[in-house]
Amino acid sequence: MPVDPQELNADRNQDWRNELRSGLSAKERSGLPRVKMPELAPLERILGFVEVNSGLNEEMAVQEAKRCLDCSTPSCISGCPVNINIPGFIKLIEKKDFLAAAKKLKETNALPAVCGRVCPQETQCEATCVYQKMKKPPVAIGYLERFASDCERLTGTISIPVIEKKRPVKVAAIGSGPASLTFAGQMAKLGYPVTVFEALHELAGVLIYGIPEFRLPKSIVRSEIAYLEALGVAFERNVVVGKMLTIDDLRNQGFQGFFIGSGAGLPKFMHIPGENSIGVYSSNEYLTRVNLMRAYQFPQYDTPIISGKRVAVIGGGNTAMDSVRTAVRLGADKAMIVYRRSEQEMPARIEEVHHAKEEGIEFLTLTNPVEYLADGNGRVKQMKVQKMGLGAADDSGRKRPVPITGSEYMIDVDTVVVGVGTDPNPLIPQAIKGLEITKWGTIVVNEETMQTALPGIFAGGDIVRGGATVILAMGDGKKAAESLHAYLNNK
Ligand SMILES: Cc1cc2nc3c(=O)[nH]c(=O)nc-3n(C[C@H](O)[C@H](O)[C@H](O)COP(=O)(O)OP(=O)(O)OC[C@H]3O[C@@H](n4cnc5c(N)ncnc54)[C@H](O)[C@@H]3O)c2cc1C
Ligand code: SF4
Repeated sequence: MPVDPQELNADRNQDWRNELRSGLSAKERSGLPRVKMPELAPLERILGFVEVNSGLNEEMAVQEAKRCLDCSTPSCISGCPVNINIPGFIKLIEKKDFLAAAKKLKETNALPAVCGRVCPQETQCEATCVYQKMKKPPVAIGYLERFASDCERLTGTISIPVIEKKRPVKVAAIGSGPASLTFAGQMAKLGYPVTVFEALHELAGVLIYGIPEFRLPKSIVRSEIAYLEALGVAFERNVVVGKMLTIDDLRNQGFQGFFIGSGAGLPKFMHIPGENSIGVYSSNEYLTRVNLMRAYQFPQYDTPIISGKRVAVIGGGNTAMDSVRTAVRLGADKAMIVYRRSEQEMPARIEEVHHAKEEGIEFLTLTNPVEYLADGNGRVKQMKVQKMGLGAADDSGRKRPVPITGSEYMIDVDTVVVGVGTDPNPLIPQAIKGLEITKWGTIVVNEETMQTALPGIFAGGDIVRGGATVILAMGDGKKAAESLHAYLNNK
């Protein structure tokens, strides 16, 4: 999905942009310090689920936008899976035309307020910003993305693109996570009637049931869904495709193109003794109870969740970090991350690890649980852990954890949350005959087109990649929409 260099150039060569560029030299711009995101103080934020990052104000955003050099070949775009015209929207912020900046973002990204909050920019667009070569902090692209889309939402002037051509061919997306939402937005913009089928009663997949309110407020997710509805996307909740409706049923209803974005929502356990004890959760269950069953709105909602005083969360990814920070907010006196490798190998976003530490969470790295012990009522009360060393790198490129014999010791716990990853949701791969499936249960697609082994059926996001990221899921949804459009045109 390369960006058209001619379009980029035409955008860059507008008079106002030439003028803006010549207003400050590259030396002056690169001499400006990177803005710092304002955030709630740790002692204040752990009392509830209020968003930790507070967003930039106008002055800060314009100041940061000035740092962008408006490169003629913007390397930042190559790091973005949905190819946002990054200098294009940043220069509109510098020009103080914030609504135009939001509109520019929406040309390629249906969920900018979400991406501005949860995308790992440090390993994507910001990792390829030219400032990296100068050994300076990259332009804060994520903060600026969040700023522009928040401005649009807060002023209530959300721009809805005019759909020029209506097409009669119905298409369906299965699952409503970021992959399907992006697919649906793109297809709607191309003029197709799109319906998204979601098994749960709430839309947006992990964005709503996984990522907690203090990182991604549900109102933000809902407003991006409202934008898609305004584009004409239809949503059907509480429909489990493969059980309540088959692909053939959908074909009989007139759907001619399909996108599978059913995610990787199946919890993984470690299969160690005592894992079935009361008080041992999967991260999925723990976070779903908090997010979907509204335990985060206690006492208005009396959701059954054991919120222990000594909580151990196993794992080092975003899911583990979200779980442990949630435990603190639910009243844990001691909340700890237990991770078998060192902090360097942790897959969680750097910002999340930093925030977790500020919130008093203890990090037991190079440590792995080997057994849970329960009291007479079957309730977990202790865990046996083993110290680990690091060996040679494994397939993931990270150093392999190696158990140290005789290093076991006990830790008192009353709640354990297992966040060691998830597997692909098996229902759709099993329900649609003829799909090619890997040994890990993911769906095989042509990487160029996202088409599965079956004509007219495309797939993307975690059901193809295993657990990945929001922006990669979105990139897949966008690519699949372009391919399905081409497929339907050539039919
Ligand atoms: C707790 C947590 C925190 C995370 N934090 C980050 C982060 O900070 N940054 C980041 O980039 N990534 C993060 N991720 C990863 C990211 O959320 C996922 O990679 C992304 O959501 C995958 O999108 P998706 O559209 O493929 O699937 P999902 O978001 O998993 O959505 C799939 C949807 O399909 C539905 N579904 C499944 N089967 C069916 C069916 N048969 N019929 C109908 N509907 C069905 C599910 O109910 C679900 O709503 C996190 C993940 C978790 C779990
Ligand atoms: S690479 Fe960095 S400085 Fe250059 S256009 Fe992109 S964000 Fe701006």
